[in-house]
Amino acid sequence: MTRPGGLWQNWSRTERVRPQRVEYPPTVAAVRRSVAAAAARGLPIKAVGAGHSFTGIAVSPGVLLELDDLSGLVSVDRERSRVRILAGTRLHRIPALLAPYGLAMENLGDIDRQSIAGAISTGTHGTGSRFGGIATQIVGATLVTADGDLLTVDDEENPELLPAVALGLGALGILVDVTIQCVPAFVVQAVERPEPLDDVLAHLERRFADADHFEFYWFPHTDVALTKTNTRLPADTVTAPQPLLARWVDDILVGNGVHQAVCSVGRTAPAAVPAINRLSAKVWGDRSFSDASHRVFATARGVRFREMEYAVPVERLGDAFRGLQRVVEEHGRPIEFPVEVRTAAADDRWMSTAYGRASGYIAVHRYWRADPTAYFAAVEEVMRAHGGRPHWGKMHTQDAASLRALYPRFDDFVALRDRLDPQRRFRNAYLDRVLGG
Ligand SMILES: Cc1cc2nc3c(=O)[nH]c(=O)nc-3n(C[C@H](O)[C@H](O)[C@H](O)COP(=O)(O)OP(=O)(O)OC[C@H]3O[C@@H](n4cnc5c(N)ncnc54)[C@H](O)[C@@H]3O)c2cc1C
Repeated sequence: MTRPGGLWQNWSRTERVRPQRVEYPPTVAAVRRSVAAAAARGLPIKAVGAGHSFTGIAVSPGVLLELDDLSGLVSVDRERSRVRILAGTRLHRIPALLAPYGLAMENLGDIDRQSIAGAISTGTHGTGSRFGGIATQIVGATLVTADGDLLTVDDEENPELLPAVALGLGALGILVDVTIQCVPAFVVQAVERPEPLDDVLAHLERRFADADHFEFYWFPHTDVALTKTNTRLPADTVTAPQPLLARWVDDILVGNGVHQAVCSVGRTAPAAVPAINRLSAKVWGDRSFSDASHRVFATARGVRFREMEYAVPVERLGDAFRGLQRVVEEHGRPIEFPVEVRTAAADDRWMSTAYGRASGYIAVHRYWRADPTAYFAAVEEVMRAHGGRPHWGKMHTQDAASLRALYPRFDDFVALRDRLDPQRRFRNAYLDRVLGG
């Protein structure tokens, strides 16, 4: 979010920049003018979404495009259940756009504050072994390329580019609209409860395979996993949503409020963290409810944190998790934030963390005022030993040399970048690091 005075900073406060220009193009034509004008001035240019990436992927020191005014529905293909929406549309606005057509997005991540373009560009994902990340729901896109031209990518035009453009790291151009393959609206039944961690680990594969959407949180220094098992049900299922007050108490007051207190105490009295984590694990979640899919998938995140997340081949998830447990044991300082474990199906997006392999995700967090460096470095070593690929929007230390070995289509992506942006108008320091200059 750009503040008055022109300072932009990301949600986790890991990145900040004062761009030379901030522009708010309300139309596709205006985006094209911005790109052409930046080229004439010799300035790099980038679009940002909600600034929810923890890495510097969205940092734009030249011209920063805020696309909040480029938001809403363009068209609907009722026959194929596809909607074309403008790239700046925030995820939380999409359900209302889809509701009149009885449609929904197939799967979502933990929150819905991101823009659709930002979410797909870094490979944002939820959980579910039979479902891909959000970029796999994209069947078409329109891009403003470095020369200010429009590039259409869909079934008919340039279809071979879709696996690159749908998860393009912001490196290929400015997305102005995307087409989402939707599914009929559906209800999700959620069951959330604390369970012995060892029981969950003992049947890890089955737990993920048996549910539509399974995930668990582990509170470090405890033997408790908070499991979430979501089941997809038809849209006409009679729902039992959480009453608003209960949702507020559970998500905001208990989830975020208790956790804020834990994090604050953790800074002044770290020795108390293990006991508080045990308490958190008890009060945080033992509930069952059902509601429209988007209301169940997305939750509120009121406590600011920093995050690193790695995708490992799903068959190595258990070993990678045990490696992480050893890191926590040996770390020396208590960890106040839960670890999140999810899965996704293999997909074909060239730069997807799940490209060509079913994946298990392990995400580690630290309170934003705590220094994550040593903890994240130790976890990263474990994940790399298991062939882990880092989430593009979350903190990591890898560079083009190491990432090339992890992505079979890495060189194809770089070649496409060379073709679409030979002068690197969409570059920034993060992209130089992860893709090469
Ligand atoms: C509280 C929180 C919860 C999160 N939960 C999850 C989760 O459950 N799963 C998960 O996978 N990730 C999660 N993330 C990470 C987040 O989804 C990604 O970092 C996502 O990219 C952020 O979207 P954004 O709109 O904020 O994009 P930004 O961070 O603003 O930008 C991301 C990238 O998209 C590019 N971009 C934005 N708009 C355009 C455009 N129009 N054209 C071309 N490029 C564009 C930017 O240049 C940049 O490269 C979470 C992050 C936070 C802070």
